[in-house]
Amino acid sequence: MTRNTELFERASNIIPGGVNSPVRAFRSVGGTPAFIERAQGPYIWDADNTRYIDYIGSWGPAILGHAHPEVVKAVQEAAANGLSFGAPTEAEIELAELISQRVPSMEKVRLVSSGTEATMSAIRLARGATGRDKIVKFEGCYHGHADSLLVKAGSGMLTFGNPTSAGVPAEFIQHTMVLDYNDLNAVEQAFKQAGDDIACVIIEPAAGNMNLVRPAEGFLEGLRELCTQYGALLIFDEVMTGFRVGPRSMQGLCGVTPDLTTLAKVIGGGMPVGAFGGQAGVMDHVAPLGSVYQAGTLSGNPVAVAAGLATLRLTAQPGFYDDLAAATARLTLGLSERAKAAGVTLATDALGGMFGLYFRETVPTSFAEVAASNTEQFNQFFHGMLAQGVHLAPSAFEAGFVSAAHDNTAIDATLQAAETVLTTMGQS
Ligand SMILES: *Cc1c(COP(=O)(O)O)cnc(C)c1O
Repeated sequence: MTRNTELFERASNIIPGGVNSPVRAFRSVGGTPAFIERAQGPYIWDADNTRYIDYIGSWGPAILGHAHPEVVKAVQEAAANGLSFGAPTEAEIELAELISQRVPSMEKVRLVSSGTEATMSAIRLARGATGRDKIVKFEGCYHGHADSLLVKAGSGMLTFGNPTSAGVPAEFIQHTMVLDYNDLNAVEQAFKQAGDDIACVIIEPAAGNMNLVRPAEGFLEGLRELCTQYGALLIFDEVMTGFRVGPRSMQGLCGVTPDLTTLAKVIGGGMPVGAFGGQAGVMDHVAPLGSVYQAGTLSGNPVAVAAGLATLRLTAQPGFYDDLAAATARLTLGLSERAKAAGVTLATDALGGMFGLYFRETVPTSFAEVAASNTEQFNQFFHGMLAQGVHLAPSAFEAGFVSAAHDNTAIDATLQAAETVLTTMGQS
């Protein structure tokens, strides 16, 4: 028995499913997850000392690659000064200022400890600030695991959705409307019917939790107009895309300005940091200034903030995002070429340091299209790549992540592995 399998059995006895977050389990691809012992740059090593080129990057945070020396140093220095105070620190101001400078729509920023907390708080704020209850979300977007967000579409367009988790009472989601991503008509209809009751529209401005799905031309602009017209707040959940797709996040690329933004992942550089922010007038509804309650014992934790600050500062180097996008495009174009040569149907897309691989003819534009891709082929590809030392997300419904540490050596090795795997797939 390998040490990985041994650890998985031991973990399964004490931790549900052997993992502390379900995406880490190999439920959809089958097999045993690798237990990681260490990581450096683009590489991770498992408990059997097998090295992998990593395209999960902690599900987004590791934009500099793993264990970047400057980030590690910042964490060590902060830790030596105390782990947590429950009182404000200067570093929190610096992180909030840095975020606001680079994402100017976030005039004021509140730090939290996870993406779930950020989105949950932003929605409470939107409801508190507008005095309305209903929220609009889109099928296939993930906004963390707060009750009112664990919903999938019901049968009719404007019927209320169904919980996607046991333990969520139907009453808790009766104010959540679930529409199709990129379907502006549906949003228009929803506003026509319930516009005066809609507090906010929350969206991943480029979706990364149903594989990678871009917004269609005019879709985000249309949401902006409708929200403005009806007095609802537009929330961009940039927990994944924030400082991942470009220096000003997705809102910098698309030119649409949301009222509120949520961040996490990259802004913690691998430590638990989240944030929500927006117009000062809206943010001032948050306690202690306003009546929307929100709090956290470890919010703005000094060690976590040190990691986030060091990470964001390094991403501000000139050309950082151009190089990252070029490396990501090199990977996806290389994969497309090799799939074509092997006779395997594969579409790919890349956005900054994010990428999508779809075993179907075209790049998908909705959850339904992603769902119609060939998951059996994905699973084959996933396990083939794993055996070749490449660690991809264990699901056809996840985006992949490239870091600044993925140099030509790492990407060429990945493409060579893919050639072997795709050629075998093409022959079967
Ligand atoms: C990861 C993610 C979340 C949840 O963040 P956690 O830190 O896991 O709670 C929310 N929204 C989006 C878009 C995400 O990608």
